[in-house]
Parts: sequence; C-alpha cells; structure tokens
Amino acid sequence: MRKEPDIDLSPTVSDVVKSTTCYMCACRCGINVHLRGGQVRHIEGNRNHPVNKGALCGKGASGVMQHYSPARLRKPLKRVGERGKSEFVEIEWDEALAIATEWLSAIRRSDPKKLAFFTGRDQSQSLTGWWASEFGTPNFAAHGGFCSVNMAAAGLYTIGGSFWEFGEPDWDRARYFMLFGVAEDHDANPIKAGLAKLRARGAKIVSVNPIRTGYSAIADEWIGIRPGTDGLFVLALVHELLHADKIDLDFLVRYANAHWLVIQSPGSADHGLFARDAEGEPLAWDTREKSLVKAASVGIAPGVVGEFALADGRHAVPVFQLVAARYIDERYSPDAVAARCDVSADQIRSIAAELAEAAFEQSIELDVEWIDWAGRKHDKIIGRPVAMHAMRGVSAHSNGFHTCRAIHLLQALLGAIDCPGGFRFKAPFPQAVPPAQKPAGKSVSPNTPLGGAPLGFPTGPEDLLLEPDGTPIRIDRLSPGRRRSPSTA
Ligand code: SF4
Repeated sequence: MRKEPDIDLSPTVSDVVKSTTCYMCACRCGINVHLRGGQVRHIEGNRNHPVNKGALCGKGASGVMQHYSPARLRKPLKRVGERGKSEFVEIEWDEALAIATEWLSAIRRSDPKKLAFFTGRDQSQSLTGWWASEFGTPNFAAHGGFCSVNMAAAGLYTIGGSFWEFGEPDWDRARYFMLFGVAEDHDANPIKAGLAKLRARGAKIVSVNPIRTGYSAIADEWIGIRPGTDGLFVLALVHELLHADKIDLDFLVRYANAHWLVIQSPGSADHGLFARDAEGEPLAWDTREKSLVKAASVGIAPGVVGEFALADGRHAVPVFQLVAARYIDERYSPDAVAARCDVSADQIRSIAAELAEAAFEQSIELDVEWIDWAGRKHDKIIGRPVAMHAMRGVSAHSNGFHTCRAIHLLQALLGAIDCPGGFRFKAPFPQAVPPAQKPAGKSVSPNTPLGGAPLGFPTGPEDLLLEPDGTPIRIDRLSPGRRRSPSTA
C-alpha cells in the first residue's frame, strides 16, 4: 500500500490571531490576521463577520503585501534634487514636521487658500476635511473626484443616498437585478454572495458593461454597451416605461416630489423653480378641491400631469409632467438611441418590458402594518422586486453624475427604492434631499478656520464658491458636492 507523504496540511502559521476589518476596499469584511513574532503571516476571512461570513477576495488576501511592500513609505521623504529628478532622502518626523510647520504657518498667516490640500485614497476624509477647514483653505478635495463622487453626489441629490455603503439590493427578494459598470474588485464579497443568492432563487441578472468578465460572465443577459452611453440607455428604458404607463405614481407622490408645481414663466427669474406659498412651502394642485394646496398635505389628490394656474395668474406644471414630457420624446426612443449605445432597440424594449413585469406583476405584498412619514397608516408593505447596483464604470465618465441620476430616476419611477425586493438603504441613509450642508470658503481670513466644511451641496447660484465678480475661489474652479461616504476604494 502506498504510504501517504508526511505533510501537515494545516500547519499552525501564527502565535497570535487578531480580528479586525479589511481596509483594501470599502466593504470592511471581517478578517482574522495571523501573526508570528509580530509579523503578519496570513489573512483569512472571519466566518463570524456579518459582511463576508468568512469569504476573502484576492484584494483582501493581498493586504499582507500592502503591509510589507518594499515601496511602502516608512518615513517622510525630503526632495534633495531638482523637481522631477526623483531624488529624495528619508528624514525623521521631527524634521518633517518642523519644515511643514514653517511653510504652512507662513501661508496660513498670509492667505490660507493658497494651500491646495488634495489627498489621495486615504479613506479618512472626515479627518482631512476637518484639517483643511481648521487651516482655513477651501481648496480641499480627495481622489474621489476622479472616481466615485459622481455616484455619491448624484444619489445624495436625488434619493438621499447612493449604492454600496449607502445600502444594497434586497438579495433575498429581488427578482430582477441590473448591474451597471461594476468591476469585480468593488464590493467583491457582498456582491458575490448576493449574486449566488439571486442565482439560487432563479432571479434574472442583467449586466451592462462593455466587457464580459466576472459578474458579466455569469449574468443571464449581458449588454455590451458602448462606454459612456449608459445614461442614454437608461433613459430609453424610462421612455418605454412611460409609454407603457408602467410607473408607480403612488410611490412617486408619497415619497418624491412628482406633484410639486414648477413655475413656467420663461424670462422670469423664478422660471423653473418650485411654486411656493407665503411661508415658502412648495405647492401642489388638489384635483378634488381644484385648488392650490401645500404639497406635503395629507389626504389630497394631487395632479401629476397638466398645467395649473398660480395665484398670481402665471402657470405651473407638476415635476412628473416635466419628466414625462422630456423622456417620452422620440429622442429617447430605443430606435433613436440604439446605434449610439450599440445596443439593439429590441433588446432595450425587452429589458424595459421585463423591468415592468418584475416590478408590477411580481410585486411583493407583506401584511405588515406601518405608518409613513406623514402619519398615514398602511396595512401592507408593497415591494417592487427590481434591484440595481452601479459603480465606477458609469460614474467616472464626464457624464457620470447625470448617468447616476438617470439610474436613480429609473428606480424611482418603478417604486423600487427602499422596499422589499428593491434597493434598500442602510442607516443613516436615506438623508434629506438635497443635503443641508453648503460648501464653506466664501470668506477666507488669515489664521482663521473656515466657517464650515470646505465641501458641501450647492442648491443655488448663491451657494457657489465664487468671488463677487464671478471668479472661482477654488483652484479647481469648482464648487463641489461633498462626498458623505467614507469609501474611496
Ligand atoms: S471585498 Fe475584498 S478588499 Fe473589500 S473589504 Fe472584503 S476582503 Fe477586503
């Protein structure tokens, strides 16, 4: 009989195991780090952690390489050669801090905004943003501006949150799942576990991505879209749903501003702004009483299409009317966008029909009593089992902000936000729309902190960081939206 080689298949590699969370992306999977002699020997997934339940992706496993990379900076570097010659020497922290203090205090004493503090993938923007604010410079940003801020800002402006750390698909109930521009290194373990659940239940997975690898390779349907045209594709889906009248108007009126009136007065300063009463409250038209009412009133039957007279004789139309009029236009028809998106009109029509079928023919009803934000009692929770997830493949384009808004519009029209089967927020999201924080930095004084955080959410021209003559205050000429999430992975 052949003797088995004497190999220990489960050697003890460590003398101590520390439990912590992975920092290689924003999922924060639980990991057990094995150390021997104070050195990291091995990283494994923590089976007791709710995010990954023991799974570890390749990026997480290679955390040990990041820790011990010979390229990792161990001390501050001081340039000793000409700029661009890459000649540096290591110096001690005391010397580095003395140099930095001398340089920075001279700037802070004269004009703090001359410091442009743009950080890398640091995952600590709360701290670095606070530091910029205390220093007194509005010139602060992080790498997310080239990466995912479009996604986060579009979501926060539209639905009070975004994908990934803001919430996730209802993997246990979704019947139809669409992925837009998602690579396998993002949110890897939770998405893989979620996709496995969807497959086990026979839910349909559709991946919109120019390349067919990873998640796209296991999708039921792959849409090899032309890069940068995802928004147009999504708006063609919106066009089809509007034409088919497959819209969740109850959801839109209950949770969104579909019925708020928008002033139609070309040439006036308030053209396109919400019509408001004397107290500044947005108005709607009650079709039962045939009168203007506060849009937030309970028990009204608000009009969502049509044109209504305001008290001053001008006219206004509901938000939904504007959305419908724009996207029902032939410019957004599948036939009009197919060539630009490189997706056939038939495929766009069939995806739209499947979305509608999943949302409205397979809707979920839970016999659970609940009270909504306005105090109305309901005896059921209605779920639209259509879930979506999108990431850098769409957000990092120059049109990413609007592409992300289009995806959120599609979710809202289907009523598939924060409901069983749809995309569900995680606390503390969703937050108020638009977020209340405005960018600080209009007034900068020597040796003085800013009046707030340098990044915020402008909601009108008056919020933009501009000098009185219109010159941008920021070095990047922007008045940026603030990234609320810790993710920069
Ligand atoms: S998905 Fe991978 S990289 Fe991200 S936190 Fe989990 S193990 Fe780390």
